[in-house]
Order: sequence, then C-alpha cells, then structure tokens
Amino acid sequence: MHDRINLHPNLNNEFDEQSLLFHEALQRIADSVKPVSGFEQCDVRQALGRILYADVISNIDVPPYDSSAMDGYAVRGDDLPPSGETTLRVIGESFAGHPYHASLQRGECVRIMTGGVVPSGADTVIMQEHALRQGEKIVIGSSYTRGQHVRKAGDDITRNAVVLAKGRKLNPADIGLCASLGIAGVQVYRRIRVAFFSTGDELRSLGEPLGEGQIYDSNRYTVHGMLTRLGIDIIDMGVIRDRPQDVHDAFVAAAQSADAFITSGGVSVGEADYIKQTLESLGKVNFWKIAMKPGRPLAFGQVQNAYFFGLPGNPVSAMVTFYQFVQPALRRLMGQQHITNPSIQVPVATPIKKNPGRLEFQRGILEHTPEGRMVVRITGAQGSHILSSMSRANCLVILPLEMGNSDAGTLVEVQPFEGLV
Ligand code: AMP
Ligand code: MG
Repeated sequence: MHDRINLHPNLNNEFDEQSLLFHEALQRIADSVKPVSGFEQCDVRQALGRILYADVISNIDVPPYDSSAMDGYAVRGDDLPPSGETTLRVIGESFAGHPYHASLQRGECVRIMTGGVVPSGADTVIMQEHALRQGEKIVIGSSYTRGQHVRKAGDDITRNAVVLAKGRKLNPADIGLCASLGIAGVQVYRRIRVAFFSTGDELRSLGEPLGEGQIYDSNRYTVHGMLTRLGIDIIDMGVIRDRPQDVHDAFVAAAQSADAFITSGGVSVGEADYIKQTLESLGKVNFWKIAMKPGRPLAFGQVQNAYFFGLPGNPVSAMVTFYQFVQPALRRLMGQQHITNPSIQVPVATPIKKNPGRLEFQRGILEHTPEGRMVVRITGAQGSHILSSMSRANCLVILPLEMGNSDAGTLVEVQPFEGLV
C-alpha cells in the first residue's frame, strides 16, 4: 500500500504515470464492444432513431422522370434561336401529376409547372418570366441554354444505389428518403436492454425520508434519462447496499437480464478493492484510473454475456464518464457505426483554472456575443458533486492534458449538448 502514498505531492501538477490516457481507455472499450445480433422489421415511421441492420437500396430513380424546376414552357433545344427571337406554338400543358402525353414537334412547346414531367421531345424549360405569351404562342429570345431548368431523372438517387448504409442511425431526412423510394419498412437492429443500479449505503430513493448522513440517489435518475434518450429498454434495479454479497447478487441478476449493465459508485480507490474481489469470481472486470477530470475511476468489463460499466459515484463524474465512454459503447452495441461526439472550437469568455496532468471536462455555456460571435463561458465552480452546474451548462469544454491556467480568449474545444437534428 505504501507505494501509493506520496507525502510531498505537487498540488499544481496532476500528471500520474499509472493513469490510463483517455484515448487509450476509449480505444480499449471500442475494441471489445461488438454489436448485438438480432434485428426486426420496422415501419419506416417507427424507425426514427433506430440503427439500420441492412443497407437500404433504391429500386427506382429519384426523381423518376425528367421534370421541370420552374413554372414556364418546355421546349426543344433544337428550337432555341442562336440569335434574335423565335415564336413557338403552345400545344398543351404538363402540370405536376398531369403529364402531357404526346411528343413535341418542331416549333412546338408545352406550358409546364414545377414538378411537371418534361414531355418527350422537349429537353429545356424557359421560365415564364422570360417568355412573351401571345394567345396560343410564345416569343422567346436567344439567351437560353439547352437543358436549363430540367431536373434529370436519377438526379437525386439512381436505381440500385445504396442510399443508406447498414449501421446508420436514422434521422428525419432518412425517413423521408425511404419514403421517396417507396420503401415502407426497413430492417433495424433489435433494441438493447440495459440494467443499472446505484451502490452506496448513504443513498435513498425518491419517496423515502432522509436520515442522518443520507442523500438522495440522483445518478439512477440521471442514468435513466441518458439511457431513455438513446432509445434503450431499461431495467432499474434500485440502490444496492455496500455489502459484497448484495453487490455480487446484483451483478449476477443484471448480467442475466441485460445486454449491458451500469453501476454508479464504489469504484474509487479503497472501495474498489472490495468490489474488485467480489467481481473477480464473476468475469473479466478492469478498474481503471484515467488521466481525466472528472471521472478518474472507471470500471469496464464483461460478466457472462453482458458488458459492464462502473461509473464513479459523484454525479457530474457519472454523467461525464457516461457521455464519453458508455454512450459511444452502447451505440456500438446497438449496431451504430461512425460514432463521434461532435465538437467545435470557440474562444473562452472567462479565464480557465486548470492544473496540467489530466484531460479536463469543464461545464460551459455556449452563447453569442452581442456582435454575434460564439463564445463559451465556464459555469463557475467545477466540483464533481455540483450537479446544478451540469444542469445549467449547455456544453462540455474539453481542456487538453498538458494545459494549465489560461486567459480569456484562448481557443478551446467544446462539445455542445444539443444538435439541430
Ligand atoms: P463513491 O464513488 O461511491 O465513493 O461516491 C463518491 C461520491 O458520490 C460520494 O459523495 C457519494 O455519496 C456520491 N454518490 C455516490 N453515488 C451517488 C448517487 N447515486 N447519487 C448521488 N450521489 C452519489
Ligand atoms: Mg459509495
């Protein structure tokens, strides 16, 4: 035990050779998590947010025919005058949903509306503003190019093209795209089931009175919210007391009922030893000290066929480690490919307090200055127990391991909480 104790620590420097780097931990998890097998057929509207199990392939060209991009007249390119003007006879009309069925002959044109089928023989559309209508005739000039204002068949998608690839998470545009192909149902990965419980003798659930030295369990509620957002089937196992047998039994039950399970608390130095012993008999569980803040301790492993994530107990640490490690891993388990947490670079509006040695996730508020530039403000105290500041924040500010105190104006990387789609 003594080699762990340092009586003369440098408190302004948090480098620790024993710690695992953030990216190493992320990579180790990514390497071991494989997608579940199992899929279901899903009505396209119900498939929003689900992960495609098979490529979606187009059976048709979209648009299926040459159509007009403008209201005007469909004409033959050969009839466009090289100079001067020409007069064409209007022989019919092609409105959206009501095509003109005959073929255009020399000197003829057809009144056409946006989305209308370009009739055979025609290949060019003249905007109505550029054509002088005279009864059943129009006069056009010479400044047009063959093929203008025509949306060619297959412009958007060609027949047999892979339009959406396996592993894609379906967004509203994708749902519309399927509809545009006439596809009413898609194959998606089955939903995954995730169990979770909190550990700690001090924790009380909602509805229970607080005794001395007790606090309400917030992590179970936070985790519930984060899992719900991912579209996961949730098994809430409540609070488990800090007793080896209880923890052991909860692990066995969780591993039997879920694809993955998550716990909070009990992974820090000291506590970890007894949990470690308890878990060693069950499967392969790693306890990592990661060079990050908050969220230094993290447990990850496999118990029977279930993946296990042991989050730290402090409420902000639990959330940050969930978003950085567990969420991408669960997405992978759900079948999703190409998983990134999008980030942007913006100047910080407030000075940054930070010691070198750990990758740090501070809570921030991303906002526009009166001049319309985007900046980020640190929320203030960054204690890993201050959940209210996580609630006020709208982003995480990611500060590199080597960075120390920094001035306002420094460019920092920011992960916004919400996206447009
Ligand atoms: P632990 O990781 O178990 O040592 O817990 C670290 C800190 O987080 C302690 O102050 C705990 O009381 C607190 N904590 C642990 N679990 C929870 C929870 N589920 N909800 C709120 N606070 C918690
Ligand atoms: Mg505890």
